[in-house]
Amino acid sequence: MSNWADETRIALDNVMDNVQNIFTPNLRLGVTGLSRSGKTVFITSLIHQLVEGNNLPLFKPLAEGRIIGAKLSPLPNHATPRFAFEDHLSALTSKDRHWPKSTRQISEVRLTIKYQSASWIGGITGPQELHLDIVDYPGEWLLDLPLLSKNFAQWSTDAFERASDPARRDIAKPWKTLSNAMAKDAQFDETEAQKLSTAFKTYLAECREDEHALSALPPGRFLMPGDLEGSPALSFAPLPPQAGNKPNNSFYATMERRYEAYKDLVVRPFFRDHFARLDRQIVLVDTLSALNAGPAAVKDLQSAISEILTCFRTGQNNILTSWFSSKIDKILFASTKADHLHHTSHNQLELILNHLVGNAARDAQYKGAATSSIALSSVRATREGTVEHQGETLETIIGTPQKGEVLSKKTYNGKTEIALFPGELPAKPESVFDANGDHIGQLKFLRFRPPAPDTTETGHFKLPHIRLDRAVQFLIGDKLK
Ligand code: GDP
Repeated sequence: MSNWADETRIALDNVMDNVQNIFTPNLRLGVTGLSRSGKTVFITSLIHQLVEGNNLPLFKPLAEGRIIGAKLSPLPNHATPRFAFEDHLSALTSKDRHWPKSTRQISEVRLTIKYQSASWIGGITGPQELHLDIVDYPGEWLLDLPLLSKNFAQWSTDAFERASDPARRDIAKPWKTLSNAMAKDAQFDETEAQKLSTAFKTYLAECREDEHALSALPPGRFLMPGDLEGSPALSFAPLPPQAGNKPNNSFYATMERRYEAYKDLVVRPFFRDHFARLDRQIVLVDTLSALNAGPAAVKDLQSAISEILTCFRTGQNNILTSWFSSKIDKILFASTKADHLHHTSHNQLELILNHLVGNAARDAQYKGAATSSIALSSVRATREGTVEHQGETLETIIGTPQKGEVLSKKTYNGKTEIALFPGELPAKPESVFDANGDHIGQLKFLRFRPPAPDTTETGHFKLPHIRLDRAVQFLIGDKLK
């Protein structure tokens, strides 16, 4: 995936990181997941919980009373935008409480954790510090990394093959009709190029809509352009295979050049400057939205996760690798928004996630990385209750649906609290791919407003969550021993 020049640059960057952090070690934690999987909410809640330190009972260093404090520190790298933690927290905790703006591009934030080591030597040397560098980036960009090993013809073939899948066929029609109408040996024309590229982007965007909820939709910047919004670097589209000579000014040759430029100027720098330097990774998965959209969406999500996983440089670190080419030695897969289900279904949600990430996780384990799966809610927006229905007791969740949410033809106003029986997850994880499974159409998911404020005796705001402490323990607990 990377060439020797990239590897040299990565090694140099790693050495620089290590020199800069010789007195205070750092841990680079990547947070990724496809659009709206819950990255922004996760990072905001994670930082808030670590800084407040009053709501993470299963995070051992905190439970053992060894965390002295955590605070945000300036970023060492001025070129990367800072994660807007303060804005996001204020959105969640403001009077009209709303969810923060989602991830649109890469950003970073540094949290410095001061702690007392549990080892005997720690007792002598006194408190220590760890810089936790949290890197937030769209999972869509990872789906670009496999492009580095594909030429334009191969990528085009893949794109057309994917578009003939029954779940995509109809959505792809307008773009394919336009593409098929082009003369094979056409000369390049900018207006036509824009038209074709826009049609291809519209097809990708429609695939992503809630009702289809498809996931594997490269090139990632077409849906999540970040700072390349409106850039000509994104005006290309796949073309049917063409044999023979392609003159320099032909449509095909120009599209091919743009594709190669996208790889060199967009994909490769992201891989080299950010992605290849991560130590730990959490992959957030919105399993419930995919289940809600049906088996095709679940299958597509599984294939996107596998593709994402093939990009990780996983393995165990030793002194040499941690200086020159750091490897991801722990990956946590997290099914987010577990507060949409009663806790009695969480175990089932974890089993389904395990099933989705199965092969990819086994591959990472084989290379020496530790992996785990968890159902969590970074910010818990619901409580639990029961209702009697036709002589049966149903376990429900209670929350305030967001304004405009619709269920059974009723539109909610953002103020009314309701009790909802979300339905049951399929008993067998493998049946999530079954188009005739008995679970199809049974699940009900609504977007809820963030929870009403809960303040502690000291006046500090407490954000409720589900299993965020278990996630933190897995991701950084061993680094604070
Ligand atoms: P991103 O695109 O990955 O950054 O996704 P966000 O973090 O912005 O989350 C997208 C949406 O998912 C939010 O606006 C919320 O509606 C919802 N969401 C995220 N995390 C949670 C959670 O823990 N509980 C609930 N109920 N909803 C959540």
